[in-house]
Amino acid sequence: MTGDPIDKEKMCFGHLTDLEMANKVRMLYRDTLDHEAVVTGARDRIMWLSQENARLIAERDEYKAKMIEFSEKGKAVLKEREKSKELNKDFSKIIHDHVVLMQAAWIEWQHGKGAEKAMVWIENALIGPGQLPDEDEPYSTESQAWYDANKADPFPKCFCGRPSNILWMGKGFCCEQHYSEAKAKELVFAVDSEGGHCD
Ligand SMILES: [Zn+2]
Repeated sequence: MTGDPIDKEKMCFGHLTDLEMANKVRMLYRDTLDHEAVVTGARDRIMWLSQENARLIAERDEYKAKMIEFSEKGKAVLKEREKSKELNKDFSKIIHDHVVLMQAAWIEWQHGKGAEKAMVWIENALIGPGQLPDEDEPYSTESQAWYDANKADPFPKCFCGRPSNILWMGKGFCCEQHYSEAKAKELVFAVDSEGGHCD
């Protein structure tokens, strides 16, 4: 049996606790009637304890490895969080500076050298990072359409194909006229769908 995995439920004296088994061995004499059984029980108990010990060591090592892995992952998450905090700070500064720049332009217009000079503030801010609208780009000569087409989350395009600045029922419209046309059509459709004729 030595070397085979020991099942405590089935082994000789498996029902005894380790202490009870140790006492049984301690009280063993050559002329004890169950001498053979106690010796077998003691051998199986030692083997079982040895296997249990090996299993626990393996389990401990596995937990240790997992803890190291978790701690490495934790460190990486913290690092990422720090990075995103820094990024957030940088973005906040950029937005802040843009607002201050527009405020300076407004001050120039209202209290300084007028609108023409105020626009120099804006132009300088765009020239630096090469952000002046290229004349070849679509809508580069129409302020509203340029904004509608290039803002971060544009509305859906108008049915005429142009960028939108009016949003209604999930649809976008480029101007009041197209918005009214769509609304009128929707109204006619709603009346038709009610059904029923009086004649
Ligand atoms: Zn339109």
